[in-house]
Amino acid sequence: MQQQALRDFAQAMARFFAGTHRRPRWRKAGVHEGFRIVGRRGGQWDVRRLSRKVGEVRIPKVGWVRFRWSRDVPDEARSFRVNRDRAGRWHVCFAVIPPPVEGPGTGAVVGVDRGVAVSAALSTGELSSVPGLRDSEAERLGRLQRRLARAQRGSNRRRRIKTAIARLKARQTDRRKDWVEKTSTDLARRFDLIRVEDLKIGAMVRSARGTIAAPGVNVRAKTGLNRSIHAAGWGHLAIRLEHKAAGRVEKINPAYTSQTCHACGHCAADNRESQTVFRCRACGHVDHADVNAAKNIAAGRAVTCLPRPTDPDRPPVRGALQPLGGALNREPQPVLSSA
Ligand SMILES: [Zn+2]
Repeated sequence: MQQQALRDFAQAMARFFAGTHRRPRWRKAGVHEGFRIVGRRGGQWDVRRLSRKVGEVRIPKVGWVRFRWSRDVPDEARSFRVNRDRAGRWHVCFAVIPPPVEGPGTGAVVGVDRGVAVSAALSTGELSSVPGLRDSEAERLGRLQRRLARAQRGSNRRRRIKTAIARLKARQTDRRKDWVEKTSTDLARRFDLIRVEDLKIGAMVRSARGTIAAPGVNVRAKTGLNRSIHAAGWGHLAIRLEHKAAGRVEKINPAYTSQTCHACGHCAADNRESQTVFRCRACGHVDHADVNAAKNIAAGRAVTCLPRPTDPDRPPVRGALQPLGGALNREPQPVLSSA
């Protein structure tokens, strides 16, 4: 097991120096608890099923350890990992690369838009949200966190509160993960081409808005936090989609997709009447705001929205896109990395 940790570390450093991955992070106690066993099944390790719900795995130097049999272990598994998560739950997972999900073969295209109120809006009009904590659960979480602040460091009571908080948060992440897996499989099965927003561009816009460019209109810290939590779920959805529907996912520049009318192409900020309602000022087209954006994404072309020349008093919108892509009036940015 220790040898494997060293090999994994060597691999991580090799990838870091090759420039494909970032520098490995330090392990953290209580968070990254686990180990990996690699080898021939039946040799170094083995796994067998005892009953419908119980299986056991033979771990070197440990012996047979029972676990809850939640799904079959494929024969081609060459390694497995034993983890202990923050909430103190132990897991064992056997590593295999699953075959990609087959599309329907009909050429169906879908656009997916992420929103703040609705996690994912499809161009078909479907809305789906990540289930978070219920009100009573969120309330309990807040209470526990206040208690944690009063608990003496190193005390048993503090440890108990910490595990209670971890269990509650685990419930939240479990739900998010479940939603991501179900949604990505569903999309990969039903559509041949899935168009999503390019997250990187969105993230850059956000960081510029929040820090350097305009500190005056800094969004409240809480909004930013909510968004970043939200973005985490979205990032996972995009990643899992690319795993399951390899080669069938297209990333679209999300600029102005929420302000542009899908019916006539009119682009204006006041097209968006409220958080949920989109009403076009030019043609009167009405739609759910996130669904309208999803339809623009499904159309696949990047939307450009240049300031109208008839309005000389208004300064051009910061970061307005040129037809060729780059922003014309963006502040010169210091080069942060040469990569
Ligand atoms: Zn319109």
